[in-house]
Amino acid sequence: MAKAYVVVIVVLSVLNVITLYLYFKKRNLEKSYKKFKDEIAKILKININNPLDDFLLHQLNHYIKNLEEKYKLEKYKRRNIFSILDALSEGVILVSSKGPDIARIDFANNVAKYLFNSEDFVGRSLTAVVDNHDLVDLVIQSFKKGVDLEKEILFYYPEKRYFNCKVKSINVENYRVIILTDITKEINLENLRKEFLTIMSHEMRTPLSVINGYLEILLNEKGLDAKTRSFLKKIEEETARLTRMFNDLLDIQRLEKAVGEEKKFEVINFSNTVKKACDFFKIVAKKTGIEFIGEIEDDIYIVGNEDRLLQAVYNILDNAFKYTALKEKGEKKVWLRLYKENNEVIFEVEDTGIGIPSKELKKIFNIFYRVDKSRTRQVPGFGLGLYIVKTILDNHGARIFLDSEENNGTLFRVIFPVHSDSKYEKEMTN
Ligand code: ATP
Ligand code: MG
Repeated sequence: MAKAYVVVIVVLSVLNVITLYLYFKKRNLEKSYKKFKDEIAKILKININNPLDDFLLHQLNHYIKNLEEKYKLEKYKRRNIFSILDALSEGVILVSSKGPDIARIDFANNVAKYLFNSEDFVGRSLTAVVDNHDLVDLVIQSFKKGVDLEKEILFYYPEKRYFNCKVKSINVENYRVIILTDITKEINLENLRKEFLTIMSHEMRTPLSVINGYLEILLNEKGLDAKTRSFLKKIEEETARLTRMFNDLLDIQRLEKAVGEEKKFEVINFSNTVKKACDFFKIVAKKTGIEFIGEIEDDIYIVGNEDRLLQAVYNILDNAFKYTALKEKGEKKVWLRLYKENNEVIFEVEDTGIGIPSKELKKIFNIFYRVDKSRTRQVPGFGLGLYIVKTILDNHGARIFLDSEENNGTLFRVIFPVHSDSKYEKEMTN
């Protein structure tokens, strides 16, 4: 009996202690909550004894808790984004520009850290971390001009590699993201292709000129029957085509290198250059029955290599006539326009020919690309003309635009840049 009393007393005492502990804990909490309320009330200059204000404080407390949750969530998301950026195979750097502080780094992922051999990126200037002058210049130009830029840049560290470097604005003002994509494999493959084409074109020239020599002797033979002569003529035509192709390929190599003669630019009267091409195609127009309308403003000057520009104009017109002549019915017209607009020189060739299907538009400037060979089989060509045009225009800093509708016609528009080089400006205004 006495034992039971003892147990009851012990249990009651423990309960008392727990109640006391909870009581003090609650008091402490109430005290700190009151203190917090007092402080907030002071800041907001409100009276906590006023029930309305007290309600406001409750609401505020609720908002703060919500905010805390959101903050945790954002922190979690941020960590996830950084992990994703670190897992990318591209280098990513976030830079900002505020006042004199141009290109200050705010973030760099693992690939960027490896490329520039530095762990210590954040808060430093790009120039202090990145030893590639081309990249730094690209970023500075992007901030100065307020445009997105892209360039292929060679890196020497940690090994010789080519990178496609994009500097893009994001939707936060004065920020740019730099994206570095390794394109070494593609460049090496492209170089291999160029090397192969150059060697092959050189190698093929000798046997072709030998064939041509023998053909000439054979065709000069007296007493050849008509059938043999016509076969030999066919061989002559095809060898001439092959020779033209290999010459074009060698020409492309020279253009792509863009050194020496290619870089000899001078001020030229482009109106006269275009008129020269026009004179030739007037004869083509007569022969093919295609109406040819030339609208050429006089005395338009640009800076460039006249022979190459004539070649580009010729190739574009050649296509316009070739692919308009292919059209079976409907009107057959080719327009050529040269004019100045907003201080830019614009050259256009428009035709009412067979047009180009929209899915092909992106590819027609590729080397050896011909749209659906079955439709163009009747006309000779290797798919080199527009590649040559694009390379020549790239060398001149000109842009080419294309608009076409299948069976309706095609428009090529070339825009030449205005030269700010004072050496040329003087000549052009004289
Ligand atoms: P090459 O110019 O080497 O003699 P090509 O004319 O076939 O041959 P490109 O000038 O490079 O080669 O043109 C590529 C393709 O684009 C052509 O095969 C043709 O299908 C299409 N194309 C180009 N210009 C026109 C045009 N004005 N109208 C319709 N199709 C065109
Ligand atoms: Mg062509």
